[in-house]
Amino acid sequence: MTDLWTDTETATPLEVADPQVWEALQRERRRQQHTIELIASENHVSAAVMEATGSIFTNKYAEGYPRHRHYGGCDYMDQIEDLARERARELFHAEHVNVQPHCGSSANMAVYMACLKPGDTIMAMDLAQGGHLTHGSRASFSGKLYRIVSYGVDPKTEQLDMAEIRRIAREHNPDLIVTGASVYSRTIDFEAFAEIAEEFDALLMADIAHIAGLVAADLHPSPIKWCDFVTTTTHKTLRGPRSGMIMCKKQWASAVDKTVFPGIQGGPLMHVIAAKAVAFGEALRPDFRAYQQNILTNAQAMCEALRSHGFRMVGGGTDNHLMLVDLRSNHPAVTGRHAEVWLERAGIIINRNMIPFDERKQSETSGIRLGTPATTTRGMGPSEMATIAGWINDILSAHGNPIAIEQVHQQVVALCDQFPLPH
Ligand SMILES: *Cc1c(COP(=O)(O)O)cnc(C)c1O
Repeated sequence: MTDLWTDTETATPLEVADPQVWEALQRERRRQQHTIELIASENHVSAAVMEATGSIFTNKYAEGYPRHRHYGGCDYMDQIEDLARERARELFHAEHVNVQPHCGSSANMAVYMACLKPGDTIMAMDLAQGGHLTHGSRASFSGKLYRIVSYGVDPKTEQLDMAEIRRIAREHNPDLIVTGASVYSRTIDFEAFAEIAEEFDALLMADIAHIAGLVAADLHPSPIKWCDFVTTTTHKTLRGPRSGMIMCKKQWASAVDKTVFPGIQGGPLMHVIAAKAVAFGEALRPDFRAYQQNILTNAQAMCEALRSHGFRMVGGGTDNHLMLVDLRSNHPAVTGRHAEVWLERAGIIINRNMIPFDERKQSETSGIRLGTPATTTRGMGPSEMATIAGWINDILSAHGNPIAIEQVHQQVVALCDQFPLPH
């Protein structure tokens, strides 16, 4: 605690009122500054998004929707929610947008409840093969309230097999097909999903939580015209505040809005909606496309460098911002959990992840998932990606030897100092 001390002249209100929370905040800031963030679902928001998130908009109740609120004093709430909705519509060319879901999971919940009854059938990607908890895991409301039919990837290609997905749809007649994933590194063919949904008379939802930034920048095909619903988080590649959003066809607008509020939520988080408006404004500018392109370039560089060290990429490579690395290829005795722990000690933050048909448990795993959105935000480029890939290999090759970790750690801190955070 000696490195954190309170100067009564310059102390912030938080520092004075709650030294424990303030201290955790200082330490977390330092952690973010001095670590390399490779968790594919994380990013660093701009100072402007941060300012809106931490603003007095948090004080206001605004249940309802613009011009139809249940509270007085909502003029500026209407303004910011309209801005967020209009910018999102423009960004994704959506017919209708609801910016009130608190997170990606509640966006998915609202869509399911808007178009299904409990017991109806949802067909979605298996969690163990790349799907999300809300795609039917038994631990989630989705797996408890609905009948779930899962699809995965082809055992050989480790990619989606549309013929097999069509076969499963034919066999089970789902009411809703969900496409989208948390751990899938190849392009998703939304048009092919739409053909299957149409053939078997199912509704179609795309969950683009991970790839929303790439979709907004036209660097991944958009699902908008093919789907009844598109849900997303706003904090992954899209680089906004931690939150969610639903886009849908006009005929679903009223059902979706009623399901979000009053169906499953109360007052919207207006400070977060303000931050979403700011982030969507940023995403509409040309430099956002350049940022997304750099994410892809960095993912390619990381992938190539890892390959040069003998790592195998699940699915044969990456078309987007993330890759799933099979550790068995060159480090058969190292589990994903080992990698996660050792790399964190060196200041490289990743998450362990099951690979398709993994023989190891979820707590161990044979894979690690790496993504480039956060390092790209800091301004790192392909040469830094190659360097980091080398460090990852060094640490795993040394089986987490403390001297090897310390050597890499010093270099990680030096690299981070060259690439400050945006705030
Ligand atoms: C991250 C993610 C979500 C949910 O996000 P939360 O904001 O954490 O609820 C939903 N779907 C997919 C595919 C995701 O990757």
